[in-house]
Amino acid sequence: MQENSLKTIFGENVFNDAVMRERLPKQTYNALRKTIDEGLPLDPKVADVVANAMKDWAIEKGATHFTHWFQPLTGITAEKHESFISPTPDGKVITEFSGKELIKGEPDASSFPSGGLRATFEARGYTAWDCTSPAFVKDNVLYIPTAFCSYTGEALDLKTPLLRSMEALSKQALRVLRLFGNTTSKKVITTVGPEQEYFLIDKKLYEKRKDLILTGRTLFGSKSPKGQEMEDHYFGTIRERVSTFMKELNEELWKLGISAKTEHNEVAPAQHELAPIFNTTNIATDHNQLTMDTMKKVALRNDLVCLLHEKPFAGVNGSGKHNNWSMSTDDGLNLLDPGTTPHENAQFLVFLCSVIKAIDEYADLLRVSCATPGNDHRLGANEAPPAIISIFLGEQLTDILEQISESGSATNSKQGGELKIGVTTLPTLHKDSTDRNRTSPFAFTGNKFEFRMVGSSSSIATANYILNTIVAEVLSEVADRLENANNFNEEVQKILKEIVTNHKRVIFNGNGYSEEWVKEAEKRGLPNISSTVDAIPALLKDKNVKVMEKHGVLSKVELESRYEIMLENYAKTINIEALTMLDIAKRQLLPAVIKFIKEVADSVNAAKSTGLDVKIDAQSDLLAEVSSLAAEFKKRIDNLENAVNSASNIENDSFAIAKYYRDEVFTKMGELREIGDKLETLVDAEIWPLPTYADMLFYV
Ligand code: ADP
Ligand code: MG
Repeated sequence: MQENSLKTIFGENVFNDAVMRERLPKQTYNALRKTIDEGLPLDPKVADVVANAMKDWAIEKGATHFTHWFQPLTGITAEKHESFISPTPDGKVITEFSGKELIKGEPDASSFPSGGLRATFEARGYTAWDCTSPAFVKDNVLYIPTAFCSYTGEALDLKTPLLRSMEALSKQALRVLRLFGNTTSKKVITTVGPEQEYFLIDKKLYEKRKDLILTGRTLFGSKSPKGQEMEDHYFGTIRERVSTFMKELNEELWKLGISAKTEHNEVAPAQHELAPIFNTTNIATDHNQLTMDTMKKVALRNDLVCLLHEKPFAGVNGSGKHNNWSMSTDDGLNLLDPGTTPHENAQFLVFLCSVIKAIDEYADLLRVSCATPGNDHRLGANEAPPAIISIFLGEQLTDILEQISESGSATNSKQGGELKIGVTTLPTLHKDSTDRNRTSPFAFTGNKFEFRMVGSSSSIATANYILNTIVAEVLSEVADRLENANNFNEEVQKILKEIVTNHKRVIFNGNGYSEEWVKEAEKRGLPNISSTVDAIPALLKDKNVKVMEKHGVLSKVELESRYEIMLENYAKTINIEALTMLDIAKRQLLPAVIKFIKEVADSVNAAKSTGLDVKIDAQSDLLAEVSSLAAEFKKRIDNLENAVNSASNIENDSFAIAKYYRDEVFTKMGELREIGDKLETLVDAEIWPLPTYADMLFYV
């Protein structure tokens, strides 16, 4: 692609600042900018003008419809299209789009999960325009990013708490910045660059696997003779089919103003990654949703299927989403960027230590922010970050924090270099990008933290609104103390020393995948919550409700609704998986096995009937082995079926139901799979009805 055409296509379908500036009267533009930048309410008259300009622009781009685009608690996005047409008395139509339609929508919301927040008879839910994320045209529809609330104002989506948390963090971070003498910044923005991992497999093979179609992951499948052990896929040459896919994907994303930047093969065969350039947490979240959606569509166009599940294939690496997170001022200062003067260093260390304290105190909340049944296969398994939350800081920073915890100040920097000792007696810090640790769930990478636990199919909203809120809380505690301090510098030192002393247990620079770490973490008293069901109750812990309410991010009632929805989602997901597994086992695998048994038995008989004295050990041994496995397979089918059927006997309590699904149903699924996978290795490949791992992972 020519540089010029790259420049033209980037953002061509986005109603961005340049388009607004060009198409809106100056006054309208200024009013809208104020709303976007300062969160001021929008005058309805201004909204009418904006709506009209937006409509004209969208129609020029081929749009016939508009939609309020929102993110209900299903974790995926929702849309309902309305055409722009409005009939006239002469039997014709004109196109119309009012400010009211832009600002507010009323989708029939009765079927979205609300966790008891809204009885179905009170179907009304409102969508409200989020003008901080730009509208765009896709597939002849004008998309308006919106927040989704109930009739009584409770959040029914992921965007509302995210926007609230961004405001909370901005407010508290500004308090701290002012104390450090910053008078110019107007707000603090949280930024995110999510690295998205995914698998691509051939569509024809996908179509033969009901498990992939219905659950997103393979419920049966024995290991491929070759897996990822040669480590030849990571950063390897990209297959031509895949590179065609990537090229088309990039173009689609660029048109939507999504700055797709990095692409490469990942560790597992058939696994890839895409990373955009970071953005505000809100826009990054919207863009990530669009990215996932676009990946699926573009894959299909290339006869491929994009799998976003956290663990499509057992025994090879799963997919995650590395959530690179930082805070910056509106005038461009990254607050997690170590400075060059002692003063800047002190400010940096206050923000860094605030994050450390937040992560340690609210590790349980952060854990639940990425808890899904899909991610359970990943967290704690040996390729993903463990379920224990710890922070990697690198040698230099850890050393500095140790000095602080011992003497209240740090006077030298391990990396050598310039040493500036000022009022705050802190050394100059140097970024060291080579200092990397791939096994840490929360790693400092020079000027940002990389939170690696988020699942590949999840929205990044939850992880970020929790991160923003808990950091806002610690910053507010810091600001309270500094505002009342007699000696600012002394108080800064005191706060840093306290945080490091009380929270250094969460810092771990070693191998997060090792057994020793699990033991060590237990000694340090760090929680190790290995399953979603055990993670979810953290949402209702007093300290967690308190922090979410204090910063106006989620109320107790809203948290209770999320608690219910998450548990329900867990039980439903396992239920669907179990039913799919039973269907495949009963109607595809067992019949295939029986057919094979007959084939072998026929061969035994045929050999015998020749009357010749030939060895039939091969057939008869095989017959014995497969027949006994078939009997065991059938038994385990029955066990699983009974477990699923008995679920309805569990008392009407979401936690008890989810726990039952994990302990009984999920366990029995594993038992059934074990036999199914053994059978796959014995049964004639011509008869086995499912494409194998080798077929799916090593296509050309
Ligand atoms: P890696 O080496 O871990 O693959 P990169 O350095 O390429 O990662 O960056 C990964 C992601 O981090 C990218 O999406 C990048 O835009 C993002 N990133 C960089 N700086 C920041 C920041 N200040 N805030 C949030 N994300 C950032
Ligand atoms: Mg990374």
